Amino acid sequence: MNVLHWFRGDLRLGDNTALADAASRAHRIAFLFVLDARLLASERVGAPRLRFLRGCLERLAADLAQRGHWLVLRRGDPRAEVPAFAHEIGAARVTWNRDTTPYALRRDAAVRSALGRSGIDTHEAKDRVVFEASELRTGAGRGYQVFTPFRNAWFARLREGGPSSAGPLRLPPPLVASVASVALADALPSESRAIPLPSAGEAAARRRLARFVAGPIGDYAEARDIPSVDGTSRLSHHLRFGTLSVRECVEAAREAALLEPKLRAGAQKWLDELVWREFYAAILEEHPRVLTEAFRAQYGCVRWNDDERGFAAWCAGRTGYPLIDAGLRQLAQTGWMHNRARMLTASFLVKDLLIDWRRGERWFLQHLVDGDPASNNGGWQWCASTGTDAQPYFRIFSPISQGKRFDPSGAYVRQWLPELRDVPDRFVHEPWEAPALAPEYPPPIVSHAQRRVLALARFEEARRAQPQR
Ligand code: FAD
Repeated sequence: MNVLHWFRGDLRLGDNTALADAASRAHRIAFLFVLDARLLASERVGAPRLRFLRGCLERLAADLAQRGHWLVLRRGDPRAEVPAFAHEIGAARVTWNRDTTPYALRRDAAVRSALGRSGIDTHEAKDRVVFEASELRTGAGRGYQVFTPFRNAWFARLREGGPSSAGPLRLPPPLVASVASVALADALPSESRAIPLPSAGEAAARRRLARFVAGPIGDYAEARDIPSVDGTSRLSHHLRFGTLSVRECVEAAREAALLEPKLRAGAQKWLDELVWREFYAAILEEHPRVLTEAFRAQYGCVRWNDDERGFAAWCAGRTGYPLIDAGLRQLAQTGWMHNRARMLTASFLVKDLLIDWRRGERWFLQHLVDGDPASNNGGWQWCASTGTDAQPYFRIFSPISQGKRFDPSGAYVRQWLPELRDVPDRFVHEPWEAPALAPEYPPPIVSHAQRRVLALARFEEARRAQPQR
């Protein structure tokens, strides 16, 4: 049988569920990636993520070439491109890994029916997560809406025996000798621009995972909260593009915990974070409205400020609050931001500037290399107190005390804000107390104390207008 594997968010050869199925059944095989014009639109994705994608595709093409295969690239609408290419090469079956974001579900349904009309068989596999929403249900058969019971059900399923890795890949001979393919250089920005990006591709992802589980994972529970410390795995972009299998991550963490008791607590905490990723994927699959609305209708009508000046200062990392500005400049300069800084910058936009969380969500999605609709939406709705089991609206992070607690020496702030490099530790989170020492740094754009009171009033007003149903 001639089989076509359609790569999407699974840009690897190792432990790839649908690819393993394709390889095991095919007499001949071909590979396709479609540069989807809709997903590449500039309001959705910025240059850093596109450059990282290009790097991943280059590595994947090289890995296939080593095995005597090639990756065909097409540009356009996958609903037309996939059936057309399958037809062109005489494929009898097309395989892909499931993506449960709302757009992907609609797109894949259209591809499936177009292929079906041409008599081409399809196979879709679970690959992006360990457990899909349909596998984790409450006693009443519904999807979970709160993290802790979801997490408990997730670990219970894992103990019963989670999905195992696909094993070594043996590829049948290529189906196509040479076909027209879009040149990556014409389609995506090159890797050699100003922002230093993490290494792309499967081999780099494996190396990073191996390094992390060999030691740093043991300190993860504490180190993960300190933004100046490289204490997290930095694997989010690999999980986003599927250059690493989440099953391998789970297996590696469990094995590390089993072999080395002192790594156990950190490994458990890290597994919890992988479960957050699956929780938000499940929430988005079951409640696609969260992409445009508050999960909790109660907070759907908070009155937001129309504050262009505030939004511009936030985007530029010039709010006058050091930890907030450091986070936003880290994002602009690297395409990544530490999780604590993501929480604080998001909270500041919503609770201090009183700007609609959706504007910040869009900014993050454009600029993050790991920008993922489900995790990003989940993170923003948590910080905005509009999400599933979100931060309660009356718990408002103070950028000053959070700075003193998680960046006591100001190491993170100094790394990203050269204006504050020489400010003594005691002023580094309140430079307005010693303005002469940081003349280039802007004064606070708003008073945190005053905005805290206003934010509480706005959320209470929304609650009264729309009591919980
Ligand atoms: P680690 O701490 O090593 O965690 C391991 C993996 O677990 C991560 O790679 C990621 O896949 C997952 N993970 C960790 N924390 C979370 C979380 N809170 N929610 C969901 N998954 C998590 N993560 C994204 O992958 N893409 C996003 O677009 C994104 N946007 C966010 C927006 C906001 C406002 C917030 C508060 C968080 C967001 N996160 C997002 C979650 C988290 O900040 C990143 O996953 C993490 O910082 C990535 O670094 P790491 O790989 O070193 O993570």
